[in-house]
Amino acid sequence: MQTQILERMESDVRTYSRSFPVVFTKAQNARLTDEDGREYIDFLAGAGTLNYGHNNPHIKQALLEYLAEDNIIHGLDFWTAAKRDYLEALEEIVLKPRGLDYKVQFPGPTGTNAVEAAIRLARNAKGRHNIVTFTNGFHGVTMGALATTGNRKFREATGGVPTVGGSFLPFDGYMGEGTDTLDYFEKLLGDKSGGLDVPAAVIVETVQGEGGINVAGLDWLKRLERICRDHDILLIADDIQAGCGRTGKFFSFEHAGITPDIVANSKSLSGLGLPFAQVLMRPELDVWKPGQYNGTFRGFALAFTTAAAALRTYWADDAFEQEVARKGEVVAKRFQKIAGMLNELGFEATERGRGLMRGIDVGSGDIADKITHKAFENGLVIETSGQDGEVVKCLCPLTITDEELARGLDILETSAREALS
Ligand SMILES: *Cc1c(COP(=O)(O)O)cnc(C)c1O
Repeated sequence: MQTQILERMESDVRTYSRSFPVVFTKAQNARLTDEDGREYIDFLAGAGTLNYGHNNPHIKQALLEYLAEDNIIHGLDFWTAAKRDYLEALEEIVLKPRGLDYKVQFPGPTGTNAVEAAIRLARNAKGRHNIVTFTNGFHGVTMGALATTGNRKFREATGGVPTVGGSFLPFDGYMGEGTDTLDYFEKLLGDKSGGLDVPAAVIVETVQGEGGINVAGLDWLKRLERICRDHDILLIADDIQAGCGRTGKFFSFEHAGITPDIVANSKSLSGLGLPFAQVLMRPELDVWKPGQYNGTFRGFALAFTTAAAALRTYWADDAFEQEVARKGEVVAKRFQKIAGMLNELGFEATERGRGLMRGIDVGSGDIADKITHKAFENGLVIETSGQDGEVVKCLCPLTITDEELARGLDILETSAREALS
């Protein structure tokens, strides 16, 4: 495999190619192939951008037809038939059946863009600057979003410029079992000298992806919504990673029966790994003036096309939700078994997650790395998350076949044993 030019020319900032130092060529659903023809099961799925698998045939077909007909491709926020078609699909298939009434903003095509837009909108709508965010939250790395991202690795990479406008509070479970961390939030809100600037909004991931698959309890999320309503604070769901079916529902907050004021989606939204993001907002929050938030690539017609195809293919009924729930149970059971095996080998390990967003906390980044490196040698692409990379995390395509899923889990189990015994 020829990697010299990649090593020589690409900036040291590159990340995933360090964990998986091969040249990938082909991919199909949950399988990746490298240039030497070696196959891998994919439990990373483009960091959760490929919930419907690599080269999904239904979604790709829509793209090929769109391209073949000389339809407009560029990315400006023109009105296009592709945009109209996507909005129709979003309204009919996702919003109406869930009783949700949102307007849609298309920011630039990345997650951090959607978060920037969401928090700026919240500030303008409420006339307050502060955004409450949670320990281990990850919301992107541009300056505004970074102020709500916990990890020091990213926060210290600004060249010394401080991030402003975010206040961190403990996420659910952060203080250990038996402490409801929202007691602290409520106490601060009621305390005029508690030091918390009354926030415009709270931003939350219902399951923290990069932060280590930390799962917010459904009652905790309900209480968070109630606190926000009681204090005239907006609730922003960052559903960039947990959305698009990853936890078993289209929106991860559906499990808790809550309705955020603002929602950010990206990652798997296009369905084919194309860059695409959206911000959903309650209609009365749409205080933007024309062009007040802009960006060149706010209307990528190819992504509208594939995103609409993904909605029509997978979300017209609840069969897909049930499939994700079923496979999520398969992963949960096996992860519990692997955690138990690690306990027997003398390592602390626990399983957690929701739907097909699951992890095994093995206590340290070193141990997690040993397992994932061995897994890669054995033909499985899998990554870690958490403050120290201590959580081995499964983000396999939701469309993975039962056979591929079982094979990936077998490889992980064998690799964990080989790496640690
Ligand atoms: C990935 C991610 C982001 C940032 O998205 P980018 O496209 O990398 O900017 C924000 N929030 C969450 C929850 C994410 O997982």
